Order: sequence, then structure tokens, then C-alpha cells
Amino acid sequence: MTTPVSVLEFFERFPDDAACLEHLMCTRFGKYIDCPKCGRHGKFSRIKKIPAYQCAWCGHHIHPMAGTPFEKSRTPLQKWYYAMYLFTTPRRHVSAKELERQLSVTYKTAWRIGNEVRKYMGIVGSGNDFNGQTEADNETGSEEEETQTGFAGNGHSTTAFGT
Ligand SMILES: [Zn+2]
Repeated sequence: MTTPVSVLEFFERFPDDAACLEHLMCTRFGKYIDCPKCGRHGKFSRIKKIPAYQCAWCGHHIHPMAGTPFEKSRTPLQKWYYAMYLFTTPRRHVSAKELERQLSVTYKTAWRIGNEVRKYMGIVGSGNDFNGQTEADNETGSEEEETQTGFAGNGHSTTAFGT
């Protein structure tokens, strides 16, 4: 799996929040996993009403967003994904202004998303291509090194969309 290269490909791949959650679940935990509670191996299935997955054997819940910047956000997951997609396109830096426009959110929300995405993707202080392109409007300029968990959290830390 590679990073979607066009906006069209992005929306084909991530048409809604559910598709994003599925991707988050698969990249963080895997498609078929040993249940941390009952230990049995199998597929966790999506619970309709909450953004979580359930063990087919014992009903144990896994919340793929737990521990991510999306967890307590009111911004839909797809917007977060789109923001991350924008950051993976190697062409230019992504300003809060651009996020504001592209995501149809307030400037404040856009700024926060941009900041969180940078941290989450290990862009700040990671020494990769994005380094040094921190926004002029990033006033707090948080330079503290985050543990680079990446998007996947299972070793695929360098790319948000890698599997
Ligand atoms: Zn279980």
C-alpha cells in the first residue's frame, strides 16, 4: 500500500470516517489480532454506534483512536486524515490557512490540527523533509521531541498511510 497521490485517490480510499477508523484499527492493531482480554485470535468487528471494535468471542472493546490526537476531537476523523494526507504530499508546506480552507474548519481548529498532525507524524524534530518548514504562524513553536509513534504505532512510523 502506498500513499494516495491524488486527492481523488485519497477520497476513494477514505470515503468516510468509517473507512478512516478501519484504517486506523488495521494499522495500529492489525486486522486479525489476539484479543488482549480473552486471548483468542480473530477479527474484531466494528461497533455501529461508537468508534470502536469488538472481540467476536468475549465482546472486549478496542478504541483505535485512544491515545491519538483524534480521540477527543470534535473534528471528524476524515478531516484529520485529509490533513495528514496533505502533509504527506512532498510538494510544499501546509499552512494553517490552507487547512482552514481545505477542511472547512475555523482557523483555530486548523492551526491545532496542523500542529497535532505534525507532532503525530513525527514531523517536528524528526529531521525529515518537513523539518524546518514549520509555519510562520506556529507561534508557540513547540520543539519538544515527541516519541515517534507514527501513525501506525507498529513500526511503520515513517509514513501515515503505509501498511
Ligand atoms: Zn476477546
